[in-house]
Amino acid sequence: MNEPVSLPLQGEPIAAVATPVGVGALAVVRMSGEGVFSIADRVFTKVRSPETSLADSPGYTAHFGKLYDGDRMIDEVIVLVFRSPDSFTVEDMVEITCHGGPVVTKHVLKLLLDNGCRLAEPGEFTRRAFLNGRIDLLQAEAIGEMIHARSESAYRTAVNQMSGGLSGRLGTLREQLLHSCALLELELDFSEEDVEFQSREELSGQVENLQQEVDKLVQSYQHGRLLREGVATAIIGRPNAGKSTLLNALLGEERAIVSHMPGTTRDYIEECFIYEKTMFRLTDTAGLREAAEEIEHEGIRRSYEKIAEADLILYLLDIGASDYEEETSTVTELRQKHPDIQLLVVANKTDTTEDSAERSEKVAEKTGCQVLGISALKEDGLDRLKAGMSSMVEGLDKLHDASVLVTSMRHYEALRNASDALRNARELIDAQSETELIAFELRSALDYVGEITGKVVNEEVLNVIFGQFCIGK
Ligand code: GDP
Repeated sequence: MNEPVSLPLQGEPIAAVATPVGVGALAVVRMSGEGVFSIADRVFTKVRSPETSLADSPGYTAHFGKLYDGDRMIDEVIVLVFRSPDSFTVEDMVEITCHGGPVVTKHVLKLLLDNGCRLAEPGEFTRRAFLNGRIDLLQAEAIGEMIHARSESAYRTAVNQMSGGLSGRLGTLREQLLHSCALLELELDFSEEDVEFQSREELSGQVENLQQEVDKLVQSYQHGRLLREGVATAIIGRPNAGKSTLLNALLGEERAIVSHMPGTTRDYIEECFIYEKTMFRLTDTAGLREAAEEIEHEGIRRSYEKIAEADLILYLLDIGASDYEEETSTVTELRQKHPDIQLLVVANKTDTTEDSAERSEKVAEKTGCQVLGISALKEDGLDRLKAGMSSMVEGLDKLHDASVLVTSMRHYEALRNASDALRNARELIDAQSETELIAFELRSALDYVGEITGKVVNEEVLNVIFGQFCIGK
């Protein structure tokens, strides 16, 4: 007799609200795990053919009816039935679409909890999808990133990762590594006979190629981070240069307090705007100058910290001021202090002087920086400034077409470790070290790559990843 087809083990039944808290037309409460159909049958009465149960209904069917807590009606709802293994979690699942609103959803959820479900932990549905092999770890994380994406580019990268872009690349890497490892292990098995299944030169070449592949991914992290988190942009300059005015103009709304008194932007504020597909995170920092006031001092210290964290600095100067030339030394100093950060000089208040073009040119000559003239107040030259900001960020244009990018710190660190292990392996091969040592390094590289997709599972890492999800996801 044939063995029955074994279905994946079903976890204890869990339930959660999957839609955001608040008032809406509809909300979704979902359940997953063993016995969810009977739980639903206990509280749900179908309008059509009430004699049939959900437990007997085929997968992918929708049922209209009423939810009851004893005799008390809770809501009119639609119930969707998903049968294992054809569901997000691979388990049996029920999704209840009820009316939106915090009180309704609370009642529906409570009903399910009272009838045998446990409240799901954050990310538990996705965690089950991962543990049941429906998605790999990268894809699980991509779902999280997609939900939290704030720009078109970040969303695109997440979609790509969800559809397996990075997983595919890492899969190929792993296969190649496995192949090299397997040959070395074979040699170890036959160590008495002193055979080499692959010449050391060939192996060294292969490991070098693998390392280059890994390094490409490591390097893509810098770009990936820009997509995910946005380009950190610090607007700096003397008090009254027009920093807050520029910030407001770029954001298109009144966000910062604009004032005539020098030094009123005491702290810094951070807001985002999207130009074309790129998100810029703007910080308007307290004015750069020696300040006596205590609070302002703190603001200035923080603004220096912000400069160090920035990807791009906009140095704003009042081009109409009589002492505009004095600032060129500050700009030059900044460039020397932060050679890695892109610096764009913005000559503001072009509306206040006839010869702003000549003045800007002088600043450009003295500092060697690109200078763009604008009037933040009149909102003149802002498009040119935004285009200039985009072009300052290296590789940003290529980025939008890049198919595989590393965006997460976790992946980045694992890849860096893999790269280190591969480098060690190559050094050992070239120094004609023992096979055992080379195999050890290659195996650790393999483990690091495996950690990313979840082939090598570490419970702590899973807790961190899924803990970041919201409940119901
Ligand atoms: P911050 O101290 O650098 O943040 O400077 P603010 O944004 O508070 O601006 C200081 C003053 O300069 C305010 O009175 C603004 O209206 C004015 N201002 C800012 N930008 C321009 C500009 O492009 N042209 C003119 N004429 N005034 C400006």
